[in-house]
Amino acid sequence: MMKLRLNTSVEIKGSLQDVPVPSVVRIPLQKKHKSVVKKKQIVGRGQVIAENPSKSAYNIGFVHSSIDGMVEEVLPDAIVIGPIPAPKEGEAAPVPARPEPCAEMDTLANEELSRKLLELGVDTSRFHATRTLIINGLNPEPGVVVSEQLVKDAQETLKAGLQVLERALKPGTVKLVVASGKQISLHGCTTVNSSDVYPATIDPVVVHAATGAERPDNVDIISIAELYLVGRVAETKLPLTETVVSVGEKVFLVPAGMPVQDLLDAAGVPHGTDQKITLGGPMRGVALYDLSTGVPKACTAVTMVPEGLFPPVQPNPCINCGECVLVCPARIQPGMLSRYAEFNMFDEAGSRHVGACLECGMCTFVCPANRPVMQYLLLAKAQLAAKDDMVSTCRLQD
Ligand code: SF4
Ligand code: SF4
Repeated sequence: MMKLRLNTSVEIKGSLQDVPVPSVVRIPLQKKHKSVVKKKQIVGRGQVIAENPSKSAYNIGFVHSSIDGMVEEVLPDAIVIGPIPAPKEGEAAPVPARPEPCAEMDTLANEELSRKLLELGVDTSRFHATRTLIINGLNPEPGVVVSEQLVKDAQETLKAGLQVLERALKPGTVKLVVASGKQISLHGCTTVNSSDVYPATIDPVVVHAATGAERPDNVDIISIAELYLVGRVAETKLPLTETVVSVGEKVFLVPAGMPVQDLLDAAGVPHGTDQKITLGGPMRGVALYDLSTGVPKACTAVTMVPEGLFPPVQPNPCINCGECVLVCPARIQPGMLSRYAEFNMFDEAGSRHVGACLECGMCTFVCPANRPVMQYLLLAKAQLAAKDDMVSTCRLQD
């Protein structure tokens, strides 16, 4: 049943491609975002539609419209923007307001530059003024080829992104981690070779490969795809309204919020009821139940998973075989933790380090009982986080 190849490197043949501008976008919001537009408002491409009220320079970025259009719906988790209706007879057509390029981009530095990047839509939540910046140049998951595509096609944009990050974060060292045997470099980076076999490609494992330390202080890590998006902002000086998405063997530059159905049509990828479609890769992606879902800025793949590649997970009993322990890169005990979560024993899961789970999905992948092992762990983590939130809210109110 385990037919998935876990090596992530591939030979890239095609080029980074554009897609037609969609007529409707459904731009995802996170909990912290506060919408600043109303239904029926005309918006221009690049106009702010939701802000992050945080004063911190290191947080999730503002959200901008990725097309010229009219706000059709403002939902808790998304803003839907559709075509501008034709003007009534005798009325002038509304002109969507697009922002001017940000002239300050070339002069700002340090925290001020990070704050500006956040306002321009870059997620800076994982950045800090840092001693070591690591660029994860490995493809994130099997079948997700964004990193190699961008290294092949977008050297100038990656360079522009790196220059901006160097001004914002002032790292002492910048390391680029690439698959062993690959001749890849980026100007100003020390190249480090690492395994490309999943889960060696996920950030915490890459940090270990690059520094020799687990969870070291003063280290930031960014993927090639994230660096490319910073580079787009640096080159255009305009808000970030797009993302790069791998679909099958092709990689596309996609307006944020483009419906998955439109992206699959533009990619010419046939898909039917014998496939599951996930936002993200086959190991960590989230299965979609609605193809009108908009592609989020943080998404690097839309994956078609053929029916039968994986057996459906079930709440079957754990047979205590230990397979999940053998593959877990966090060296925790997924089987036992999944049983704690299954029986609502979340505190016990917390005390046995469920928080150390890297969310790689390997435990679910190998479990012979087909248990949703990682999903149980995610449940425990969410429950513990909600409890922490409740405790801090109580303290504030006291
Ligand atoms: S998802 Fe499973 S295998 Fe991966 S780190 Fe978490 S517990 Fe370990
Ligand atoms: S692999 Fe599955 S059955 Fe085996 S110990 Fe882990 S959770 Fe239990």
